[in-house]
Amino acid sequence: MEKPKIDYYVWADKVADQLKERKAKKYVVHGMWTPSGFFHIGNARAELLIPSFVNESLKDRGLKSEQNFIIDDFDDFDKIPEGLNIKNEDFEQYLGKPLRKVPSPVEGYDSWAHFFQKDVLSALEKFGIKPNILPSYDAYKKGIYDKTIKIVLNKSEEIRKIWNDVTNGKKPKGWVPVMVICENCGKSATTKVVAWDGKELEYLCTQHRPYAQGCRHKGKLKPGKGNVKLPWRLHWAAGWYIYGTTFESAGKDHFSSGGSVDTSQAFCREIFKTQPPMQIPTEFLLVDNAKLSGSVGNVISLSNWLEFAEPELLRFMMISYQPQTVINFDLHSNKFFLLADRYDEAERVHFGKEIKSDKRNEQLKRYYELSQIKQMQEKIPVQINYSIASMVTQVFPEKPLNELVEILSTKGWIHRKTLTQFDKERLLKRLELAKNWIKKYAPEDAKFVVQEEIPKDLKLGSKEKEALHIVANALKEKKWNEKTLFEEFYNICQGTGIKNTDFFRAAYNVLLNKDRGPKLAPFILTLGKEKVIELFEKV
Ligand SMILES: [Zn+2]
Repeated sequence: MEKPKIDYYVWADKVADQLKERKAKKYVVHGMWTPSGFFHIGNARAELLIPSFVNESLKDRGLKSEQNFIIDDFDDFDKIPEGLNIKNEDFEQYLGKPLRKVPSPVEGYDSWAHFFQKDVLSALEKFGIKPNILPSYDAYKKGIYDKTIKIVLNKSEEIRKIWNDVTNGKKPKGWVPVMVICENCGKSATTKVVAWDGKELEYLCTQHRPYAQGCRHKGKLKPGKGNVKLPWRLHWAAGWYIYGTTFESAGKDHFSSGGSVDTSQAFCREIFKTQPPMQIPTEFLLVDNAKLSGSVGNVISLSNWLEFAEPELLRFMMISYQPQTVINFDLHSNKFFLLADRYDEAERVHFGKEIKSDKRNEQLKRYYELSQIKQMQEKIPVQINYSIASMVTQVFPEKPLNELVEILSTKGWIHRKTLTQFDKERLLKRLELAKNWIKKYAPEDAKFVVQEEIPKDLKLGSKEKEALHIVANALKEKKWNEKTLFEEFYNICQGTGIKNTDFFRAAYNVLLNKDRGPKLAPFILTLGKEKVIELFEKV
C-alpha cells in the first residue's frame, strides 16, 4: 500500500515524526544556558520553547518524552556584564572561577548564578514550560559526570585527534582535556593538567587568560565529585550521553563548520559511543531590529514579557516561525499590535469563527493549540483587540480596569451579554497589559491625552472647521457604528473639498493636540459623541 503523504504545517510536528523513527524508549529534549548574565526571550526561543514544542508534539504522538533544562553554572565567570549597579573592581577577583563560586551582584542570592537564573526559573511555569532543572555544578558535585570524566581521561589521545581533525586545531601530544578547579585559588580557567597517571591528575595554575591570572599553585588530585570539569564541547557531548538526549536546538552560531556542534557530535559518537541528538539551528530573535545580549543588558526577560503581553503570545510567536527564521519582534512600535492580532485570528480560526484555506486553517489551529497554557475553553473566549484596549485605557486613564470592562460593553467593543469568569479575567488582563505597554514601551505616536479644551495655538483653515462642524452635526443626528462613521468622514471630505489627510489631522489636532492618533471612528465612538461635539463646535 502506498504510504499516505503527510503535509507538515507546523515544524514541531515534522521534527517529532523524524524523531519517532529513532524508536527510542524515551525521548529527552534539551535546552541549556549559562547564568552569567540576563536570560532573554531569544534564549527562551532556542533553549526552552522550541524544545517544549517538540516535547509536546512527541507526547501527542503517544511517545514518552521529557524536557531538561541544563543550567551551566559550573562555567567560568569570564565577563562582568554591563547594566548592573555594581563596582566592577569588587568582582574582578572572581573572574576565572565557576559561576556558582562568585557572589551575587545583588544581595539576597547565594551566588552570581542564582541571581541570574531567578528570573527564568520563576517565570517558566507561567509560560507553560515544566522542564527538569539540572544545574551542572550540582551534577558534577554529585559525581554524575564522573563516569564521563574517566572515559575522557582514558581516551585523551583519541579526543586530541578528533579535536584537531574536526576543528583544524593543533592540540599538542599529551593534552589532557579536563579542567581542574585550583585547590588554592578556586579558579578553573587558569589551570593546566600536566600529567595523568591513571589515578591522579597533576596540574599547574599558571595559565594566563585575558580576564584571569593563575596563582602558580602546583597540585595533584584524584578527579571526581566536582573537582574537575570537562571543557565545553566535551561537556556538551557528555550531557547527551548521561541524559540520553534525543533532541536539542541551539543558536545557529554553534553550527559553523568545525564548530561546537560538529566537534561535540563527533565526541558523542566516537568517544561516548552513543547517537548524538537531532539538533536544529535556531536563528536570532531581534527586538526592534537589535540583537539582544545577556552581557549588555538590553534584554527583554520572560518577566518583562509578562508586563506587556500574555505568555500565550510568546509561545504563539515562537511556534509560528520556523526555528531557522530570524524573528524581528516590534516592541517599541505600533507594529507590536500585529502579534496580538495574529494570535486573535488564530483563535477565531480554531473555534471556526473565521475560515482560511484548508492548509492555513490546519496550521493556525495547531499554532493556537500549541500556544495554550490553560485548559482550552469550549467556546471562543471574548476577544478585545489590543489596539482598542490600549486606546480605551488612554481615553479613560483614571478609571479602574473593571469599569473599563463595562465601558468595552457599552461602547460596543464586546458583544457577549454574559461574560464567564475566564472572559472577565482575560479582558482585565489585556487592559492591564495594554496600560503597561503604553507606559513603558509604546512609541510617542501611540500615546495620547484627550484634550479638555481646544488647544490654544490651534490654527485650522475655514474648510477644515466646516468639516468638523459637519461631523458634530452628523453625530447629533443619528447613531453611528465604526463602519458607517468612517464612510461618513469620506463623504464629508468630498462635500467640503478637503483632503482626507487634512481632515484627519484637523480632528486629531482638536481632540488630542497631535497630528495623528488612533483610528478616528472607533476613537470617537469610544470617547463619546458629547465630548467630540463639544470640542468640534468650538472650533
Ligand atoms: Zn590557582
